[in-house]
Amino acid sequence: MNIHEYQAKELLAKAGIAVPAGYPALSVAEAVEAAKKLPGPLYVVKAQIHAGGRGKGKFKELGPDAKGGVRLAKSLEEVEAHAREMLGNTLVTVQTGEAGKQVNRLYITDGVDIAREYYLSLLVDRASGRVAFVVSTEGGMDIEAVAHETPEKITTFTIDPAQGFMPHHGRAVAYALKLKGDLNKQAQSLARQLYEAFIANDCSMLEINPLVETADGKLTVLDAKMSFDSNALYRHPEIEALRDETEEDPAEIEASKYDLAYIKLDGNIGCMVNGAGLAMATMDIIKLNGAFPANFLDVGGGATTEKVTAAFKIILKDPAVEGILVNIFGGIMKCDVIANGIVQAAKEVNLQVPLVVRLEGTNVEQGKAILANSGLAIVPADNLGDAAQKIVAEVRKKAA
Ligand code: ADP
Ligand code: MG
Repeated sequence: MNIHEYQAKELLAKAGIAVPAGYPALSVAEAVEAAKKLPGPLYVVKAQIHAGGRGKGKFKELGPDAKGGVRLAKSLEEVEAHAREMLGNTLVTVQTGEAGKQVNRLYITDGVDIAREYYLSLLVDRASGRVAFVVSTEGGMDIEAVAHETPEKITTFTIDPAQGFMPHHGRAVAYALKLKGDLNKQAQSLARQLYEAFIANDCSMLEINPLVETADGKLTVLDAKMSFDSNALYRHPEIEALRDETEEDPAEIEASKYDLAYIKLDGNIGCMVNGAGLAMATMDIIKLNGAFPANFLDVGGGATTEKVTAAFKIILKDPAVEGILVNIFGGIMKCDVIANGIVQAAKEVNLQVPLVVRLEGTNVEQGKAILANSGLAIVPADNLGDAAQKIVAEVRKKAA
């Protein structure tokens, strides 16, 4: 789960980390009120969307010469004008995709006199199973470009979870940022505070880009992106309350209501599978046959008719879907029960796209008979390879 920059900064401030003062705003009037609470004379109006690259982003509705999603303002009038222009409009950044994201919230924050911009992030490194620090003197810009063009400017190291954060980790961060004197000390304690906040909140990612050195020699967090491990959210109701559903894919929210694991992808073949491993294998074999999956969907071990119907509806809401492949192993569930669910669901949603079903497991013969006698144009398949070939062929036939 992701949260907004202003929410991340509030969490960091609670952990004792220095962030510039600021307030969120949902309307132009709130933006002006927020600015009045700040000392001025420099304010920054920042679009709050769950995507980075806002500064260099472009608003769809405004011309190519209009400013992006992070704007400096030198007066309350300018704050008001920026808020008016940004709220309700669609910001397109390198991370939003072409569709962009509607800006519904702003963050009005203190303008900072920046001397230098750095990059600092923490993330769960799956390869080592540890929390990794990623540190670079090249902050403020696209870290992917830095990694690509000048990888020597990025330092990474991981923390042994049994040992935790040690003073030498702090020194490693300060050294990587080439900081001296008091700034070096600030970086060491900031690194520890960030690590502790990361662990305490069960984060999966915490990215500070940029971390800045101010003209008066203070390190401060200018931008913060924070994601949390969804499996740990039950331990943090206060974080779950920060969820902004308008930023999430409506299909994924709908799926979570039925306890379905659904992730939208770019292809045209909808997949309904039980078990994450089988779902991965199904996506792989679709690709092997030259097509692309439209989604990952795991209906789980106890797939009921209700769940299968909900899954069909979610898959079909995606206009890119041109065919569906159902690949279910009847282990806990019996194949005849699943077949009944599929038939009922297909009728209920008035299925118009080709449907290939591969069933295997307990009562498979009864299951296949139910599908064959359903009166629906369901294409049966005998194994994974056969199923993938058939759905790809069916979709191509229909497109031709
Ligand atoms: P994004 O990464 O989405 O573009 P940032 O918050 O990193 O958004 O802002 C982009 C740039 O805008 C920063 O690198 C910094 O130069 C400038 N900026 C952001 N916030 C402030 C601020 N409070 N004061 C001064 N400049 C800022
Ligand atoms: Mg940034």
